[in-house]
Amino acid sequence: MHKDERFSKIIDIVSRKAAGLRVQETDLRYLFAKKHEMVKMAVDEIVFSVTDPQNYSCKLCNKKGLNKRGLYMHLIESHGKEIMKMVKDSMDFVDLSITLGTDYKTIKTVVERHNGKFYCKFCNKGFTKTGVYRHLFWKHKKDLNFITKNSD
Ligand SMILES: [Zn+2]
Ligand SMILES: [Zn+2]
Repeated sequence: MHKDERFSKIIDIVSRKAAGLRVQETDLRYLFAKKHEMVKMAVDEIVFSVTDPQNYSCKLCNKKGLNKRGLYMHLIESHGKEIMKMVKDSMDFVDLSITLGTDYKTIKTVVERHNGKFYCKFCNKGFTKTGVYRHLFWKHKKDLNFITKNSD
């Protein structure tokens, strides 16, 4: 499947979930194969930051008083681009987790992203995506394994 098509599917899944509509979990499995469990974590994280399930409000613009369907349409129509960006950002973390052979939570704990750079939280240095991969691989492989082992 084409990458963009995959992204638009995942935006739909995020918006549905965030609006409290039913989501076919098998869709993620189908779209992302081995990655699907990590993608699910990323999706849940995004869902949490876009809506408040208590009152169906949009956390991105504070719009309130929508029903499930309305909230879903609102997310797709008004925040599609923002959600797309969040998905793309999270996918970078998913990719890093996979190439480093660690779990998603661990990478989220040790890498922070701002202004287009990836910061290693051990040494507070900023890198490109490939740079942070190399850095973690050569300098912090042991630290990563330690965190992964002790995270549950
Ligand atoms: Zn909104
Ligand atoms: Zn470091």
